[in-house]
Amino acid sequence: MDTPDPATTLTPFPITVSRPERVFPKLTPAQLARVEAHGRRRSTTRGEVLLDVGDRIVPFFVVVSGEVHVLQVSGSTETLIVSHGPGSASGEANLISGRPSMARLRVSEDGEVLELTRDQLLALVQTDAELSEILMRAFILRRLELIAHDVGGVVVIGSTYSAGTLRIREFLTRNGHPFHFIDLDRDADAQELLDRFHVSVADVPVLICGVETVLRNPTNAQIADCLGFNENVDQTRVNDLVVVGAGPAGLAAAVYGASEGLSVLVLESNVPGGQAGSSSRIENYLGFPTGISGLDLTGRAYAQALKFGAHVMVAKGATRLACDGQRYTVEIDGGPKVPARTIIIATGAEYRKPALENLSMFEGAGVYYGATSMEAQLCRGDEVVVVGGGNSAGQAAVFLAQTTRRVHVLVRRDGLGATMSRYLIRRIEETPAIVLHPYTQVVGLEGSGRLERIRWRDDRTGDVETHDIGHVFMMTGAVPNSRWLSGCIALDDKGFVKTGPDLSADDLAAAKWPHTRSPYLLETNRPGIFAVGDVRGGNVKRVASAVGEGSIAVALVHQVLRP
Ligand SMILES: Cc1cc2nc3c(=O)[nH]c(=O)nc-3n(C[C@H](O)[C@H](O)[C@H](O)COP(=O)(O)OP(=O)(O)OC[C@H]3O[C@@H](n4cnc5c(N)ncnc54)[C@H](O)[C@@H]3O)c2cc1C
Repeated sequence: MDTPDPATTLTPFPITVSRPERVFPKLTPAQLARVEAHGRRRSTTRGEVLLDVGDRIVPFFVVVSGEVHVLQVSGSTETLIVSHGPGSASGEANLISGRPSMARLRVSEDGEVLELTRDQLLALVQTDAELSEILMRAFILRRLELIAHDVGGVVVIGSTYSAGTLRIREFLTRNGHPFHFIDLDRDADAQELLDRFHVSVADVPVLICGVETVLRNPTNAQIADCLGFNENVDQTRVNDLVVVGAGPAGLAAAVYGASEGLSVLVLESNVPGGQAGSSSRIENYLGFPTGISGLDLTGRAYAQALKFGAHVMVAKGATRLACDGQRYTVEIDGGPKVPARTIIIATGAEYRKPALENLSMFEGAGVYYGATSMEAQLCRGDEVVVVGGGNSAGQAAVFLAQTTRRVHVLVRRDGLGATMSRYLIRRIEETPAIVLHPYTQVVGLEGSGRLERIRWRDDRTGDVETHDIGHVFMMTGAVPNSRWLSGCIALDDKGFVKTGPDLSADDLAAAKWPHTRSPYLLETNRPGIFAVGDVRGGNVKRVASAVGEGSIAVALVHQVLRP
């Protein structure tokens, strides 16, 4: 595939990190020999395009001699991202995730390269610890560079104050996909861009995907389709293990399952990370004494699952479990039925929504269910309200107090003692910007277009106060995501999945339990179907227990699969 050099001048692309040698490492001759053992060596000619933007099959190249340019392409303009000389390797995070290429690779000087398919690269990083560290780190840092420079061919046009815009930005951010955001309220060029693509203000948020495709207020599934997030996954293959849900529990199951040789498919209705991904700082997870953001922790787990060869589909939720045929199948949004030898249910829980009549009008436009740096940016310097007395509310209050003027914490009980960890209560007591309102609940939300005022009531006196506050964080607990299991799996009276010793003789009889053995710990009343994490009855609702259960369940999956 030869194309002439472009007429455009190549301009250099600045690197933002302090240690560029980690982003673009040079492999030694001994390391090159180990790479070559997994692939093939071939010659290259100046002008040859090794890979183009949008290519679905993305090989991995290491330059042995000569030079290869990595180019950002926009219409007929090419911008040089980096030049790879001898010892330098191509690729970034999409090589591990199996997503399409975001850059063009063109040979700028004749020479030779080592070429590996994605599967050969995965085999290399799974077996060679030294190269795994060098390459995985480089791929992740390169992705961060692309995000820092908005390289990814995606433009989002919308308003900071619109729920749809926030959803799209969160979906792309939590998927680690770079995008350029144009704010209709602040950017003077926004109208010109809308005109160029023949879209009106009524169509926003708009996502421009690649050169041509314009999506008007797209669903997450449409975005995933346009960016080819799920393209390289064979949904009809019978996998050893299908994990439903990619929060900490599902990701742990995927990492342990795939690293122990099982074929694993993960189905996630939104983005990997689950509730933990919306946590600003997790401080009680073993091994992180200074805490870690939920996005970082789950982002690493996601990369780890992919590295070991698990397939992960995003924006593909399970809608029904079929358990009466010869083989279990999971029905998914707009896709074929996914067959499975064993299943781990890890669908967690979702935020409970207070019964406020116009709540949905303000979701993303003043009402939020997570407190990450993205929401914190939206309310910098303002007064905010956090509703709830659990650990997630405490964390949100402490985090938001760093950047906002005042944080009002509203709880229905007399205080936090019964519902929040001691360390968070102490932080709240020591933070003057946080004001605790016991016996208090939200009774009204007001505003046009976005939240402008909130009314709350003191249940002791019945007094209602109105405050000009435009940001409310609802951290009021969660309900299990188990509706898709109904009719198939035994649930308790609150909808949590029953497992192991919690199952009654009636539960087993209802599912015609076929074995003389009792269900294993974490096994449901269907043999080979397990439940882990927040969706499971009796789980303690912590990241560590979700991760622990996800990994234990894999050991039990092996027992079921053993002939
Ligand atoms: C803001 C916040 C802060 C928190 N902070 C802490 C903390 O500091 N320390 C701590 O230990 N715990 C914390 N927690 C609790 C912790 O995050 C949860 O216990 C943990 O995430 C549970 O993991 P999980 O994998 O079981 O479920 P979840 O995290 O809920 O993940 C479930 C996943 O399944 C997906 N899903 C749902 N339905 C379907 C379907 N039908 N098909 C496919 N996918 C589906 C969801 O989109 C989600 O990604 C916090 C929770 C919140 C909300």
